[in-house]
Amino acid sequence: MRIGLHLGAHYRTHQDYEQLIALFDDPLVAVRDTGVDFVEWTMILSPDWQEAEYRDLAKRSMSYGLPMTVHPYLNGPLNLARFEDAAHNASRATLQRFLRLTARFAEEQHAPCSLVLHPGQRALRKTQSRKELHTEIMARNQTAFRWLARTVRANGYPVRVFSETVQRKPDRPQAVHGGGTFEDVLASVAGTELGVCWDTGHTYLASQDFGEPLFPPDAFLKRVGHVHLHDVRNPEQFRNCGLLTPDHQPLVWDNVPLAENLRLLKQAGFDGDINLELKPNAVLLLGDFVTVARESVARLQQLWDAA
Ligand SMILES: [Zn+2]
Repeated sequence: MRIGLHLGAHYRTHQDYEQLIALFDDPLVAVRDTGVDFVEWTMILSPDWQEAEYRDLAKRSMSYGLPMTVHPYLNGPLNLARFEDAAHNASRATLQRFLRLTARFAEEQHAPCSLVLHPGQRALRKTQSRKELHTEIMARNQTAFRWLARTVRANGYPVRVFSETVQRKPDRPQAVHGGGTFEDVLASVAGTELGVCWDTGHTYLASQDFGEPLFPPDAFLKRVGHVHLHDVRNPEQFRNCGLLTPDHQPLVWDNVPLAENLRLLKQAGFDGDINLELKPNAVLLLGDFVTVARESVARLQQLWDAA
């Protein structure tokens, strides 16, 4: 099991990173100093995304001795909910370029690179029922992940693709997700050899907000090859804290059942990557970035050893 910390590739321009880059010219130094085994780069891809923006990520990560994994967000027309297995499709074209780029990252670091994707989501419009749209998104997810599996195999890319459990926000009832439950994520990779990414913070929130099961079925657990871990503040801890969302917190709040999550993973034979998805602002609210993040790393290691 390897422990990683996430970092937004867009840190220079994103408000979430303002405080962190005020303290570190290069936030990768902060990530390295926490002693983690790898860095997971999140990247927001829009229709005009340029590969050049991301080309040096692997070189920079390697210069700090940090292997990398990637977690691109595909927005708007690039979203998997818009995927079609056709040459003119923007989502497929982007994934094609991104797979090649990820394969290059893998070459650069002399080790396979994991690629974590959110299944599709789309806003409900009046012309369609929620059920119809959900069915459509699920079909597109399956087409997308089957295409991804085929393309990785056909090109011999050293890339591991995972489909992640995403967060459904109660204040956005119009959003229809194809990855908000264990069943949907499992269905998204059906018929492929691809694994799933269990975001235990998201599924904890789904249990709180929507009454979904807190723990995954065995079929899901067996497919988990990558994990996203973070704690969540309860409503009282969240009130007036100044953060925009209650999730992506350091492991200090004891709300997400981390010990039980890790026990289930260990029991299922999991030995992959666990990425701590901590929001820099949430970390800095509790003290020095490196100290607080290090404490979460130590807590995770201790819980894993005890699991
Ligand atoms: Zn996540």
